[in-house]
Amino acid sequence: MTLKQLASTRKITSFHPPQRTLMGPGPTEIHPRVLTTMSQPAIGYLDPVFVEMMEELKALLRYVYQTDNALTFPVSGPGSVGMEYCFVNLVTPGMKVIVCRNGVFGGRMLENVERCGGVPVIVDDDWGKPVDPQKVEDAFKANPDAKLLAFVHAETSTGAQSDAKTLTAIARKHGAMVIVDAVTSLGGTPVRVDEWGIDAIYSASQKCLSCTPGLSPVSFSQRAVDFVKARTEKVHSWFMDMTLLASYWGNTNRTYHHTAPTNSLFALHEALLLIQEEGLDKSWARHQRHHLALKAGLEAMGLKFFVEEKYQLPQMNAVLCPTGVDEELVRKSLLNEFGIEIGAGLGPLKGKIWRFGLMGYSCRPDNVMLCLSALGSVLM
Ligand code: PLP
Repeated sequence: MTLKQLASTRKITSFHPPQRTLMGPGPTEIHPRVLTTMSQPAIGYLDPVFVEMMEELKALLRYVYQTDNALTFPVSGPGSVGMEYCFVNLVTPGMKVIVCRNGVFGGRMLENVERCGGVPVIVDDDWGKPVDPQKVEDAFKANPDAKLLAFVHAETSTGAQSDAKTLTAIARKHGAMVIVDAVTSLGGTPVRVDEWGIDAIYSASQKCLSCTPGLSPVSFSQRAVDFVKARTEKVHSWFMDMTLLASYWGNTNRTYHHTAPTNSLFALHEALLLIQEEGLDKSWARHQRHHLALKAGLEAMGLKFFVEEKYQLPQMNAVLCPTGVDEELVRKSLLNEFGIEIGAGLGPLKGKIWRFGLMGYSCRPDNVMLCLSALGSVLM
């Protein structure tokens, strides 16, 4: 393209996105303190000042994950990269892996197992239901050679929460390691890596941590680290090889691995400071409180939750679209008339549900009130 062609086709002089109320499955709104921190001057990724911040960032992540795991850091990339990091390091060709599928993201875990050459044993549950611990127990009994269990803690596609503590205990009893997807749970509902005995966990910056998308906090137990170190064949991804990444994120002799997204990392540090200041217990309680308010309002309008009450995630509220209502039109009206973004259903739930996110900084009483009154007016 020539400069002349470019000038005749390009319209935006400087991009200024509109102010939106983000109440979908992520990304969330970002606290002004985090946005300000992100816009600080650029700095080198090995600058001593930056390196000092990296150490704090790791400590803050250990707090939100409730772990003492040394290898806890944000991978550069969205939650999908954190997912691949866990699988590519921990699944070796021919390894039997029990993988639970009760929504979109369990399906992606299965894809990862297959792409790493693992032999999947699939535990299927209906979308909207949690992973059934009895099925996982039965799968281990039928496959005593299974070395790994993988499941999604908070299935964003349906709004269902699985019992991570019980599922992890089953895997530990059978001597298997555990990979947990905490993309939507971290910061919004309890995640206790050490107490539950999780070996590998990943999340994403743009959900209940309320940071800019593009970072995936991960944590490996010593058992997981030892497993990767003892591997005889190379990890099949250069970028996500744990040992190579540790050369940058480890404690000593940091060297270049890739150019880290420095300003995004400043932002994550600030977002985690906000969680530390609030306290994890209070953050979890806030998500529950506003979920109850939203739920009361949605149910008062006659809407029905997709997930049974005891498995409902506070931060991801999936409700059935009533018959005769144009699902897409409602979402469009909320966006165009009120600047509110909510989520649509994915896969088989497309056109059938709406997903109301209440995550991180977006989880506020003013957002609940705005959303309920806007939805009420659109549905009238
Ligand atoms: N896992 C879950 C449970 C998710 O909800 C998502 C995204 O919504 C992902 C993984 C993938 O994360 P990302 O979109 O940041 O790659």
